[in-house]
Amino acid sequence: MAFEGLTEKISSAFKKLRGQTRLTEADVKDAMREIRLALLEADVNFKVTKDFIKAVTEQATDAEILESLSPAQQVIKIVNDELIKLLGGKGARITIAPNPPTIVMMAGLQGSGKTTNAAKLAGLFKKQQQRRPLLVACDVYRPAAIDQLKVVGRQLDIPVFEMGQGDPVEIAKQGIAHARKNGYDMVFLDTAGRLHIDEALMDELKNIKAEVKPHEILLVVDAMTGQDAVNVAKVFDEALDISGVLMSKMDGDARGGAALSVKAVTGKPIMYIGTGEKLDNIEPFHPDRMASRILG
Ligand code: GDP
Repeated sequence: MAFEGLTEKISSAFKKLRGQTRLTEADVKDAMREIRLALLEADVNFKVTKDFIKAVTEQATDAEILESLSPAQQVIKIVNDELIKLLGGKGARITIAPNPPTIVMMAGLQGSGKTTNAAKLAGLFKKQQQRRPLLVACDVYRPAAIDQLKVVGRQLDIPVFEMGQGDPVEIAKQGIAHARKNGYDMVFLDTAGRLHIDEALMDELKNIKAEVKPHEILLVVDAMTGQDAVNVAKVFDEALDISGVLMSKMDGDARGGAALSVKAVTGKPIMYIGTGEKLDNIEPFHPDRMASRILG
């Protein structure tokens, strides 16, 4: 699971603090130096790390904290609260539109886990909220992508709307019309991915957005790709003004940098995480739980 190295190093910094009955400013600064290194080694963005350490140090070196009865405990709480803030504060979710169907556009680079996680997400809403989702195959460049969506759709018993290799904007529109007519209350558009960001891809996604006006645009990024994932999120957000991120492959041994940096860099929250290859391996993202897990 992600964050192992980070958890270990932060625990070691805290252990030194806990061993002391009184704390000085120098003790806190030493611990923050260790935590700073741990964050950088976990591939957290440099500026994000710097701002985080500054925010914690400012609060934790306050005389009131240092002279309190359990200073180490207080410092740990400050780190915990700042981590929660960094991860997005209160968890953000897809909002159900007042007039169905809620249209969710899924975007992401090829291999990020977009198709699988579009289906997983539809499955989550079906199972937990008794919604009636429809998956729409707008990734027309790879015939395999349409087949793959149909396979995962079948496994989750969620219908897939497809028109083969047609025009993605038209397919999206027809898919939504099909949903309206047949009482599907959520539509998940599986859009095209490329290996790299290029203008043609972005133009296509912008066209789909302009034509169908999705309620939510969710970007799937692969946690294993670290800071690249954050850069990808930044570029997609600048082009599409995404609602949030679905961070896939959090079950892998990613160091955690992407998850810890993406909100601060893009301003957009992680909404869901993919935690495995199985179709029920998806969870709403809880910043507070993730912070507790990181702190061990
Ligand atoms: P796409 O090209 O972006 O549509 O990516 P796919 O949905 O085809 O996923 C690429 C690979 O990543 C597949 O082998 C998926 O099973 C795998 N995958 C997707 N999400 C996760 C996840 O959360 N954890 C793990 N371990 N694998 C995932």
